[in-house]
Amino acid sequence: MTLSSDFHVYDTTLRDGAQQEGLALSVHDKLAIAAHLDDLGVGFIEGGWPGAIPKDTEFFALAAQRLSLRNAVLAAFGATRRPGGTAATDPQVRALLDSQAPVVTLVAKSHVRHVEYALRTTPAENLEMIRDTVSFLAGEGRRVVLDAEHFFDGYQDDPKYALEVVRLAAEAGAEVITLCDTNGGMLPPQVADTVHEVLSTSGARLGIHCHNDTGCAVANSLAAVEAGATHVQGTLNGYGERTGNADLVTVVANLVIKQGLPVLDPLRLKEATRIAHAISEITNVVPYSRQPYVGASAFAHKAGLHASALRIDPDLYQHTDPTQVGNDMRTLVSEMAGRASIELKGRELGYDLSGQDELLARVTERVKALEAQGYTFDAADASFELLLRAEVDGERARYFDVESWRVITDARGDATATSEATVKVTAAGRRVVATGEGNGPVNALDHALREALSPAYPELRKLQLIDFRVRILDAAHGSDAVTRVLIETSDGSSSWETVGVAANIVEASWEALVDSISYGLMRQAIAPR
Ligand SMILES: [Zn+2]
Repeated sequence: MTLSSDFHVYDTTLRDGAQQEGLALSVHDKLAIAAHLDDLGVGFIEGGWPGAIPKDTEFFALAAQRLSLRNAVLAAFGATRRPGGTAATDPQVRALLDSQAPVVTLVAKSHVRHVEYALRTTPAENLEMIRDTVSFLAGEGRRVVLDAEHFFDGYQDDPKYALEVVRLAAEAGAEVITLCDTNGGMLPPQVADTVHEVLSTSGARLGIHCHNDTGCAVANSLAAVEAGATHVQGTLNGYGERTGNADLVTVVANLVIKQGLPVLDPLRLKEATRIAHAISEITNVVPYSRQPYVGASAFAHKAGLHASALRIDPDLYQHTDPTQVGNDMRTLVSEMAGRASIELKGRELGYDLSGQDELLARVTERVKALEAQGYTFDAADASFELLLRAEVDGERARYFDVESWRVITDARGDATATSEATVKVTAAGRRVVATGEGNGPVNALDHALREALSPAYPELRKLQLIDFRVRILDAAHGSDAVTRVLIETSDGSSSWETVGVAANIVEASWEALVDSISYGLMRQAIAPR
């Protein structure tokens, strides 16, 4: 399958997906998600709205320094210039240029009533805003995508005006005009008819952006592609406001696997399950087990009746081969089941495990056992590497021995609670007792532990705990619920994630903290002292 370079797979997880209720992404989260999206092989990553949202301005600045994308280009999202001004002097348009993103996606009104009620300007001025902004940005060397907001509703209301928006934007230099079902109320036949009509009337290159309010976001996206759209927008795991956006992995898997359209490298698609889950660890949104293709239950079968037939011919009971999307028949996805995926993960971290069957079997078994307890290594690369190194070397590097730790949280009167931790460790042959304070127990433990270790390892001073995520896992196997903690630590130039699991949240955090510090020393190639 040769990849189709004239089809755009456009991800908007970081912009439209981030509108989901309860989803709050830090700049670090966004950078980590962008790296995963690039791994998945999407062509475009919409990073946010620079100039309007400070965090997004920062994202583009950091992305330029830290992200080396292999497959995708970044797109900055923004609006057409204000009514009555010029694009060249509009500060918001300027911020789009300043983001350095090679692609700029402009949202524009194509529904006359929205022009009048929301923009409070005339239909003619709206057209002028589109023409001016698109031609200015194209003249500055940017690839321009025009997202025509409320297009389908607008087209039903006043097809002439909606078409004029498409025609004019294309003429002004927009590479793609995306028809947006902003309210998500369309059904596949309407989408197909509209795309077909707009394509034959305007001749412009069309894209599609669907929301899932009728439960048809994926179906509508496929209908648009069938009718001639060659640019499809969506989000990972279908994140988005209300009922979400089109799930990009489902759309792409359908196009590649079911329709044989070469819109994504099949080898990249094999990473889809792992990446969808890694991203859900970052967003801290519990993965939906019945999600098409990548859900834990997507290829799970009831035991019994099917089991014997499945052994003979699995195709009898599944719609496609789950390995095409990196999923697995019958096993839980979060358990990185196969040795192949461990081998792959090892290679990413610089360990060549090929041909080392015994070692691979050991690591796989260890990972499976830990994942059954609630650990996840999809996002916690550093904990995985520590585990792998311990198996390769025969034992884990002992940078320090922990004698005990304790943490107290108290509040006086109406004052905010503070925490104080004491840790007792032995490092470089010396027993050290140290205390630390913090605004919470984990913060206090982090301070105390680094204080205790810094005489032996002064390199630890520059480490900083930058993120902390907690998930309560369902009770399994009749036991009580357990807590999983993921910690992200930075040394100023890069960051890594570690995981801890325990019935007690502080204990789980401590475990992730110890991993994070051990990893911080290991990655600087410091030998135990
Ligand atoms: Zn949208």
